[in-house]
Amino acid sequence: DTGSGLASSPRIIALANQKGGVGKTTTAINLAAALATSGLKVLLVDMDPQGNASTGLGVGYDARRSGTYAMLEDGERAAAVVQPSAVPGLSLIAADTELAGAELELVMSDRREYRLHEALAQVGADYDVILIDCPPSLGLLTLNALVAAQSVIVPLQCEFFALEGISQLVRTVNSVRQSLNPALKLDGIVLTMYDRRNNLSELVAEDARSFFGDRVMETLIPRNIRISEAQSHGQPVMNYDQRSSGSLAYQALATEVTDRLGLHAVTKGKAR
Ligand code: ADP
Ligand code: MG
Repeated sequence: DTGSGLASSPRIIALANQKGGVGKTTTAINLAAALATSGLKVLLVDMDPQGNASTGLGVGYDARRSGTYAMLEDGERAAAVVQPSAVPGLSLIAADTELAGAELELVMSDRREYRLHEALAQVGADYDVILIDCPPSLGLLTLNALVAAQSVIVPLQCEFFALEGISQLVRTVNSVRQSLNPALKLDGIVLTMYDRRNNLSELVAEDARSFFGDRVMETLIPRNIRISEAQSHGQPVMNYDQRSSGSLAYQALATEVTDRLGLHAVTKGKAR
């Protein structure tokens, strides 16, 4: 505690990769749930118009009341659009149905890259960690996430062409750091859908380690059917099947992320 009496600001982490289907949303949901279960106050922001993070936490399409779009339109609404989830300590800003039009509308708005940053400043003091689930593109929604965040975590699917497009993502992160957000760091790569019976998974892991060195998380997320089943039931895997390999892996990832990013310290600095 700095003794200043000011609430400490949260660590904001964007889950980004312009490829779809690599595990961004799955990692956002399950990392958020595991961090919350470890005692941190966590907010998950669904920035993908597909709304899979919202669905995966039990907020289906028909239940999408005001969420991310309303907040980007008017940052003052941030606190009003936060909703609780079934996981204690985990709150959600869901993708509302209008979010699909936001990318285009943002182009014409003031301070268009800072909308999320400014909105989250309204609610940040209530959380230790904010995770942002990005859409599969490097457009304005992802740019808003990169401007709001201090950390980027990139899920990489252990499949052919896993690293394709990665240098473009790294360039984007670097240029955001140089222009809009000097605090931004690429803090980690998470290998997802790892299959130890398949040599390809190990080859992707080796490639990722030679490109990113120790920024590759030691925790490997296995391919595990319970993970996708849980999502279709609107639950994090640790609530759906706590002993499954997917659940154990995401709990281990939460511990690793907590250590690597020093998330303990944020909590300790908080009066609770
Ligand atoms: P993205 O958000 O990057 O588009 P998702 O997280 O939605 O990717 O994952 C794509 C699909 O793969 C989803 O159907 C999800 O349930 C499934 N999936 C993700 N990770 C795993 C895993 N470790 N094991 C099994 N299925 C997974
Ligand atoms: Mg997704």
